[in-house]
Amino acid sequence: MARYIFITGGVVSSLGKGLASAALGALLQARGYSVRLRKLDPYLNVDPGTMSPFEHGEVFVTDDGAETDLDLGHYERFTGVAARQTDSISSGRVYTTVLEKERRGDYLGKTIQVIPHVTNEIKDFIEIGDDEVDFMLCEIGGTVGDIEGLPFFESIRQFSQDKPRGQCIFMHLTLLPYLGASGELKTKPTQHSVKELRSIGIAPDILVCRSEKKIPEKERAKLALFCNVRPDSVIPAYDLSTIYDAPLAYHEAGMDQAVLDAFGISPAPQPDLSTWQDVSERIHKPDGEVKVAIVGKYTQLEDAYKSISEALTHGGMFNRVKVKTEWIDAEVFENGDAADKLTGFDAILVPGGFGERGTEGKIKAAQFARENKVPYLGICLGMQMAVIEAARNLAKIKNAGSEEFDHEAGEKRFEPVVYHLKEWVEGNRTVARAVDDDKGGTMRLGAYNATLTDGSKVAEVYGDTAISERHRHRYEVDIKYRKQLEDCGLIFSGMSPDGKLPEIVECKDHPWYIGVQYHPELKSKPFAPHPLFREFVKAALEQSRLV
Ligand code: GLN
Repeated sequence: MARYIFITGGVVSSLGKGLASAALGALLQARGYSVRLRKLDPYLNVDPGTMSPFEHGEVFVTDDGAETDLDLGHYERFTGVAARQTDSISSGRVYTTVLEKERRGDYLGKTIQVIPHVTNEIKDFIEIGDDEVDFMLCEIGGTVGDIEGLPFFESIRQFSQDKPRGQCIFMHLTLLPYLGASGELKTKPTQHSVKELRSIGIAPDILVCRSEKKIPEKERAKLALFCNVRPDSVIPAYDLSTIYDAPLAYHEAGMDQAVLDAFGISPAPQPDLSTWQDVSERIHKPDGEVKVAIVGKYTQLEDAYKSISEALTHGGMFNRVKVKTEWIDAEVFENGDAADKLTGFDAILVPGGFGERGTEGKIKAAQFARENKVPYLGICLGMQMAVIEAARNLAKIKNAGSEEFDHEAGEKRFEPVVYHLKEWVEGNRTVARAVDDDKGGTMRLGAYNATLTDGSKVAEVYGDTAISERHRHRYEVDIKYRKQLEDCGLIFSGMSPDGKLPEIVECKDHPWYIGVQYHPELKSKPFAPHPLFREFVKAALEQSRLV
């Protein structure tokens, strides 16, 4: 039976609950425990798959094909534990399930209510896989007091009562604002937030206090007294220069010890922090720098490409260089020369995306990288752009394009070298889709195998010819252009095992030009960089030495 740690937030949002949860997971692992992390989100979307990256940041995809919150990315990057469909739930999903059950008649004519029907559904979810790990860490999205959050708070309160004493603890993250005028850190918002939590029956065992200034002992004692927690369970959380310092910083601050104390685990196993010491050392002591241009659409909000920027950092850590990224809106050189903006970068990355806007700029970026022999990594849409570029400029298919853009525009303008994928094989079943299907959860999602050509660049990068990577796309490069494109130097070096779907393309006469239909960034870890990012940064480093 797992022990449960519920992580809640108060005062303001964006305090880094996800990061604190992930770091705690890593610290418990360092003490020899197994962990699983879960996110319970109060919003009404069924999943974040249909939410704009501008609003909600990146959609993280699991091996089993769930479209989840980007916090699950943090969880994986810190613990290395692959998240599953059952590690992410929203109010929308809970209500959908409850209402489906109601329609089926599962409740035998009962009146359906938040308590117990919705709360039971949430409690059942929390407990999935209870016997698999030592600790289950459940983060509740939003802040205490939010209307949508109430069923979740009520559920975790009930859950802790259903379980034997000592099986569940509550950790609450708050902010201590600093008032410059009086030169003081204020504890009152935290006191109020804890009061709010206690009014719904939850007494936190541990307080994690974000603060930009050092928290004096006096304030810590005051927080302990007024919020009814032990003084050594008031954990300061200061701003960090890199998120990868979080496990060491939280350990220093006593978080993992406080958690084990709260469960009464004594003596606590000693932690082995060597992985995080190495990670921290690599990130703080780079030997040089490379400049990477990321040409995309959602460039205003860095969270929209969270996993990509993290994966680049990991690649940099491996090569012991700092990766300086510049986010360039693809639209800016749509009507001008890409060279003006792209000269001087050591590598170019075109990430995934949806819709036509900005794609002509991305095609120019791919062309610039190919012609000037600048390392290029195209991810998902970025691979499709590379194929369209080669089709237009090398194979002379002048109107090559993607069916995605024609569908959006409602007219046929392009020769579809990238077409709408209507049928594919998933395990031993065939999945079918129509153009006007629901948008939510209907893409080719999750882990699929690919077979790489022996002797190709990617096979060298992976050191293998059989791989599995995570997908999230609706459109696909059309295999019928393979010969034509390969004759001009764009090689299809990775295919789905049935040989029908192109997974990877690479340029023959180029030092490093690779496009992948999947999302390698989702599997990169600071302690195990993804091979493509490791080698892409290495290629950038070599490029930087040329100039
Ligand atoms: N829009 C493209 C598709 O659906 C690419 C998706 C992506 O980049 N994730 O195929």
